[in-house]
Amino acid sequence: MIKIEGVSKIYNLGKQNEFYALNNASLEIDNGELVAIVGKSGAGKSTLMHIIACIDDYEKGKYTLGGQDVGKLGDSEKSLIRNQWIGIVLQDFALLERYSVLENVMIPFYFSPNKVKRSEQKKRAMELLKELSMEHLCNQKVNKLSGGQKQRVAIARAMITEPKILLADEPTGALDEKTSEEIMNAMRLMNKKGVTVIIVTHDMSVANQCERIIEIKDGCIYE
Ligand code: ADP
Ligand code: MG
Repeated sequence: MIKIEGVSKIYNLGKQNEFYALNNASLEIDNGELVAIVGKSGAGKSTLMHIIACIDDYEKGKYTLGGQDVGKLGDSEKSLIRNQWIGIVLQDFALLERYSVLENVMIPFYFSPNKVKRSEQKKRAMELLKELSMEHLCNQKVNKLSGGQKQRVAIARAMITEPKILLADEPTGALDEKTSEEIMNAMRLMNKKGVTVIIVTHDMSVANQCERIIEIKDGCIYE
């Protein structure tokens, strides 16, 4: 499903401070996998994640997502493919703090090209919140929640448009061990439903809960 062939992300190309954040990286990830991407700070994990998510461009190589050559797509086509394929969870949650849990989960519908009826939006959001044991907090303002609860809201928001791939960049980075466990359970739950889950982490106890571990060092991929 995800096929990265000899991809390089080069900052300041041709200048004296030219820098390869990804260097000739190749990687294939199949539908339904649960994958961890590990590596030290600055290794290129987020860079790889942003390329997979069609957020960042790359300078060399080829990236195919579901058979489509991403490098040949324009910005609007890329945002369409992203909308259709990708859900993202970030370390700092990036939620609207003064809005309710339910409102936060429904945000992606404002940007989705597929029109879904408001009642259906709500139904889907409530189902996801139920799966994540957050349904009782649906009307709570996000700023009243704990870190683990916020991250579960972020997971529900990422999943609401039913993406095939769930990307998480250090989803447990701001959380204690017990709460990390809770978030990993939520990630595994999404994976069991058939979603391809890719988790960036520098925590080996998180990585060891995945089926496959990919390591990045200085922009190069090792497995
Ligand atoms: P990680 O997520 O593994 O910590 P990143 O993918 O964020 O690492 O970054 C990889 C490398 O690319 C780092 O050394 C970082 O300094 C460099 N980098 C990231 N963004 C830029 C930029 N806009 N210009 C130059 N270098 C950058
Ligand atoms: Mg990073």
